[in-house]
Amino acid sequence: MTQEITFIQREQLKAKPDPASLGFGKYFTDYMFVMDYHTDNGWHNARIVPYGPLTLDPSSMVFHYGQAIFEGMKAYKTPDGEVQLFRPDKNMKRLNDSCDRLCIPQIDGEFLLKAIKQLVTVEKDWVPEGAGQSLYIRPFIYASEAGLGVHPAHQYTLLVIMSPSGAYYGDQLNPVNIYVEEHYVRAVLGGVGHVKTSGNYAASLKAQEKAEANGYAQILWLDAKENKYVEEVGSMNIFFKINGEVVTPKLNGSILPGVTRDSVIQILKHWGEPVREERISIEEVFAAYERGELEEVFGAGTAAVISPVGELTWNGKTIVINDRKIGQTSQRLYDGITGIQLGKLEDPFNWTVK
Ligand code: PMP
Repeated sequence: MTQEITFIQREQLKAKPDPASLGFGKYFTDYMFVMDYHTDNGWHNARIVPYGPLTLDPSSMVFHYGQAIFEGMKAYKTPDGEVQLFRPDKNMKRLNDSCDRLCIPQIDGEFLLKAIKQLVTVEKDWVPEGAGQSLYIRPFIYASEAGLGVHPAHQYTLLVIMSPSGAYYGDQLNPVNIYVEEHYVRAVLGGVGHVKTSGNYAASLKAQEKAEANGYAQILWLDAKENKYVEEVGSMNIFFKINGEVVTPKLNGSILPGVTRDSVIQILKHWGEPVREERISIEEVFAAYERGELEEVFGAGTAAVISPVGELTWNGKTIVINDRKIGQTSQRLYDGITGIQLGKLEDPFNWTVK
């Protein structure tokens, strides 16, 4: 796809929000990237235009049958004032995996990355530079064809919007309480759990609401078939440190292959630390706790990077992990990964892209 990207300038730039009040996904930058698809002429009309509302036909297929996918990635400001992305090729690849599963036409990942770089360059003043802050980048695609027939749409829109976001934690990582959900499930084998389609998140809200009402921060999801094997935690992948060894559920078709998950595995291997990907049951986790071998539990994802788990509740029983303190491995991984993302540590993996 060697198309030009048109640029339409805004008349007036927005006022930038107070860096102390950023939160997550509340403010959006001045511009967005847009591209259209029609079966007759493929992806076309790539453009960077003022951020603003969309006009959609009420019968647009996305509203009715949910043909929609998205990605989540971040741009970071380095100490020397440059802006960099973290493993964006992985997000392009996963976007296309999501497209494939939802019958959405493939994107030229290199072209989209070029467009994202161009958008970030236009918006470089929006990349916040406070501790833990970054510019969140949200590419997404939806079926924009008007009509109520149930079939893959012939027309789609791809957008990239960006939002300056605050530190996930304050000064330091904060261990959270997790509820192991046994009634609701996130994803089934053969379903769509391994890709980022909007419906997955809609389907997770009920359980999340229940967990929050009971004082838990997030849910630990089990497999849908046997309600036995650990899958993910909230919208993060999960890791356990048991008797000196880090274990994470093996990708099985219903777990989302996180970019952070892969980074954690690679960095541990690089450090020479033992790490395994394998099926792990919730019984085994609780048994490891009983043996005194459950040293750390943490989630891994773009938003929080590493999120230590302080408490796990399953089947009426609560276990406290590492005295609700931040584990050594969790902290080291957090420092190691954010150090690379922010350009403060050497990047032996070539993960960052200016
Ligand atoms: N699992 C789910 C369900 C998610 O939504 C996310 C966030 N994308 C992750 C895991 C973590 O993935 P990543 O490290 O790529 O952000």
